[in-house]
Amino acid sequence: MGNYQLQVTIDQDSGFCFGVVYAIDMAEEILAEDGYLYCLGDIVHNDEEVERLKAQGLRIIEHAELANLRNEKVLIRAHGEAPETYKIALENNITLIDASCPVVLKLQNRIKTSYDNKEQILIFGKHGHAEVVGLQGQTNGDALVFQDIAELDDADLPSRFTLYSQTTKSMDKFYHVKDELISRGYEVKANDTICRQVSNRDKDLPAFVVNFNKIIFVSGKKSSNGKVLYEVCRKHNPNTYFVSSISELDKSMFNPGDKIGIAGATSTPMWLMQQIKAELESY
Ligand code: SF4
Repeated sequence: MGNYQLQVTIDQDSGFCFGVVYAIDMAEEILAEDGYLYCLGDIVHNDEEVERLKAQGLRIIEHAELANLRNEKVLIRAHGEAPETYKIALENNITLIDASCPVVLKLQNRIKTSYDNKEQILIFGKHGHAEVVGLQGQTNGDALVFQDIAELDDADLPSRFTLYSQTTKSMDKFYHVKDELISRGYEVKANDTICRQVSNRDKDLPAFVVNFNKIIFVSGKKSSNGKVLYEVCRKHNPNTYFVSSISELDKSMFNPGDKIGIAGATSTPMWLMQQIKAELESY
């Protein structure tokens, strides 16, 4: 231990959710066998983990590149894909290694069923997010996606509709949106489709973060649930820092003897949190 004698504890409930573990296990298995594997989009919203897998042969491609690929294996990550992707794969003789998370697949199915039943659909989710694109794709692009209630202020909405949520949204915000829409006079069939891997952490993190002088929240900048969980930490411990890699740590952030808690998103690898712990302990 260094001069600062920081006491560092990692939240044991932080780190990969089962959907991400499943996708990464699947990728590593094929990488070990074939030496390379294409993956449609970042396998996980964590640059450090993506780099680790790239070093094993993972090749990240965008949708435009998929159209030019033939006779290869392509991994679909936990966020899932729209039907269009499956169609292109079939046409191009691409073998899809489908690591769509079962929770996302179930939500895709529910949205498709609503759509087939001619319901008007609203999705509370981030514009352009891979999961949201896959969800909207179940409705032929008809579902209205919004990430902020203000976007609906001037929208011409039907008097009744079915509301869904991206799996990694904040529970509080979802229920706020639902109540607001009801108070505006709409008949809302609301489905809380937030993944329990996220909402349970939402509930458990406050009790963890209050025990420390400072919290290092480790997450990639693109992670949706990272943003949500960081806000939860900050609300209950104002001395929370958002850190994506060791290089963003600075000794001047700490005082000797500080008790530090480390927490992370569902896309944050445990090895990265352990590296950060070791770095802090060396101060
Ligand atoms: S957060 Fe939930 S829905 Fe998303 S990948 Fe993890 S387990 Fe699946």
